[in-house]
Amino acid sequence: MESYQGKSVFGGIAIGKICVYQKEEQQVKRCRIEDIDRELARFHEACDTAGRQLKALYDKAVKEVGEASAAIFEIHQMMLEDMDYIESIENIIRTQSVNTEFAVAETSDNFQMVFASIDDEYMRGRAADVKDVSERLLSVLHGNHKDALHIDEPVIIIADDLAPSETVQLDKNKVLAFVTVHGSVNSHTAILARTMNIPALIGADIALDDSIDGKLAVVDGYEGRLYIDPDERTLESRRARMEEDLEKRRLLQTLKGRDNVTQDGQKIMVYANIGDLKDLGMVMQNDAGGIGLFRSEFIYLDKETFPTEDEQFKVYKTVAETMAGKRVIIRTLDIGADKQADYFNLGHEENPAMGCRAIRICLSRPEIFKTQLRAIFRASAYGKLAIMYPMITSVEEVLQIRKIADEVKDELRAHNIAFGDVEQGIMIETPAAAMISDLLAKEVDFFSIGTNDLTQYTLAIDRQNEKLDDFYNPHHRAVLRMIAMVVENSHKAGIWTGICGELGADPELTGLFLAMGVDELSVSPGRILGLRKIILETNVARCREEMLKKYL
Ligand code: PEP
Ligand code: MG
Repeated sequence: MESYQGKSVFGGIAIGKICVYQKEEQQVKRCRIEDIDRELARFHEACDTAGRQLKALYDKAVKEVGEASAAIFEIHQMMLEDMDYIESIENIIRTQSVNTEFAVAETSDNFQMVFASIDDEYMRGRAADVKDVSERLLSVLHGNHKDALHIDEPVIIIADDLAPSETVQLDKNKVLAFVTVHGSVNSHTAILARTMNIPALIGADIALDDSIDGKLAVVDGYEGRLYIDPDERTLESRRARMEEDLEKRRLLQTLKGRDNVTQDGQKIMVYANIGDLKDLGMVMQNDAGGIGLFRSEFIYLDKETFPTEDEQFKVYKTVAETMAGKRVIIRTLDIGADKQADYFNLGHEENPAMGCRAIRICLSRPEIFKTQLRAIFRASAYGKLAIMYPMITSVEEVLQIRKIADEVKDELRAHNIAFGDVEQGIMIETPAAAMISDLLAKEVDFFSIGTNDLTQYTLAIDRQNEKLDDFYNPHHRAVLRMIAMVVENSHKAGIWTGICGELGADPELTGLFLAMGVDELSVSPGRILGLRKIILETNVARCREEMLKKYL
């Protein structure tokens, strides 16, 4: 048995086979080729194999996610048959007597550059397709026939690191746990693990090679340990702990249907954070009062090009209908920093967390913003939708946003398209927004505090930087005092405040948040009932003084 220590980002135990996920290093060397015909035949064989892979992926995706989402694999198949693309590769092989890998990489770079420079959003999106198809071809040529993140049975994924865009593509029913060598506990990949309700460790110093692939392992999210080839004692004790967890979950289920009310009668809303429609099952199962944060950017991350208004509308309508009149807060896209989609062409930034992200993209590219707003407003006719804007720093931004939202509503009215009464709120996740929350409160319907970013920007600590995990302290008085101030300012203006950052689920602070008068806590679905239990056991009048003194 081997064992490795990591940092746990979510508790729980998983037992299963390991699947090592190695990002393919597509290093391409230029080699001289003597037998051109043989090289051309090699190229065409690779195209056939890649085409078969794409066909299989298309068939699987049609069954699992529907035709519209599967279409991307069809587009990639077409790209593989595109004569301009094929002729360019053949031409490079012939005229320069070089290997196929080099010709594919060269063509890919050239085509991407051409597409990216076209002043048309759709064509710019094609640059990402060329990149994807070419990477697939290179992976086939390198002899890697396995489709990177496609898993057939439930496994423990071990990887160097996982980007949020890779994580969202995982089949959530087939991932028992994550273990990564790198990554920060505050990253979106960690947040996704919590939403998926699965144990996850990061920073495990483990050599990623095929020798551990397929071996039995245990991930202990309580101790932060990974055991490979566990001995009988380890297996037995962890199985017993799994049983205990199951029993606890069963007990928590008895709290379903109960109000979130303290012993002295203070009520608080407990909502769920979600990233996509697949999370709705957990939301229902755990009796969420609503959805406090729908990270809509994951719809964009799951795509190769901009999701259309109709594609988005269907997603938002499904959430609205499923939640049947309960409030659903959709956060407009928060792309940027660690959440990157190639087709946005954001370019390299020295400091992406402080760069072109979230509302800044929406305000500088209003066509993208308006498409999303139209989709949300249209879907609001089917349930109780609210919109929330991320990364706000000024009143002027809010006024600009409201003007755009009003334009969208006017356009819908002009076309006789129905929409509901939609609350519009903002995230308070920059110190600037917290400090002027008295002014912002006059312009919006609610606040939701994003403690993940608020901590990052207040403490000047990059939440992605794993070396700073020990310095990232969301219990810092500066952060907690800002939360208290925001709640107070919102109440003075007659609006409500929630917390949708990870801190909202911190059981140590539930009493403090209740004492501050926080109106809503939005947490990963798996944490709702545990939080309800704490609320039911709290007496705010009794703990108020102690909490305020200890933390503020
Ligand atoms: C936050 O910053 O606290 C938040 C909820 O948003 P995200 O984690 O997606 O940046
Ligand atoms: Mg944030």
